Amino acid sequence: MSDLQFQKIELGPIGTNAFLVWEENGADAILIDAPPEAKATIAPILTSRGLKLSALWLTHGHWDHMAGAAELVEGEMSVLGHKDDLQLFENPQCMSSFAMPGMNFQPVKITQWISDGDKLDLFGKEVDVLHVPGHCPGNVAFHVPSKNCCFVGDAIFAGSIGRTDLPGGDFATLEKSIRDKLYCLPGETSLHPGHGPDSTVDREMATNPFVPA
Ligand SMILES: [Zn+2]
Repeated sequence: MSDLQFQKIELGPIGTNAFLVWEENGADAILIDAPPEAKATIAPILTSRGLKLSALWLTHGHWDHMAGAAELVEGEMSVLGHKDDLQLFENPQCMSSFAMPGMNFQPVKITQWISDGDKLDLFGKEVDVLHVPGHCPGNVAFHVPSKNCCFVGDAIFAGSIGRTDLPGGDFATLEKSIRDKLYCLPGETSLHPGHGPDSTVDREMATNPFVPA
């Protein structure tokens, strides 16, 4: 059986991780998060690998994760996000005072709202949607049990957590999300955050200074 491949792509202007996921020997790919101007980097990668983008999965509505989405959408492409970030997806300029001066805030139309407990198909692999609010209201994580990995957006980072001082952020909510949704995953699960290096559930439970196990 063919396996999943993925490539982590760190994009500017503030170093946001996007993840391109595709099936070995397949023709379709999905992109987890779309930082500003992602297309300039993503399009040549798709071409060189012979892939076509079939969906965008957005972990949350902050501009550095979605401002490049609209320019990547073609035809019937599905765009997934959580309704609690509706305002951010449709009106991203509401975060302009927290962003880089001169940024181009392109809204994106979500075609499929997802919520906690939803099951998604990732080229034949089951994905569990985990709602992990606290950094913002609509942050979701995409857990792929058969691959022991989880794409967590800005809920948790290696040795840190998402900031909770932006509008809609709340530390107690984030702490609960991390404990109830992420720390209960198998310890060897790889965590792929929206910024910085990867980690594992075990490592964060043992060393994360903000949310000790
Ligand atoms: Zn964020």
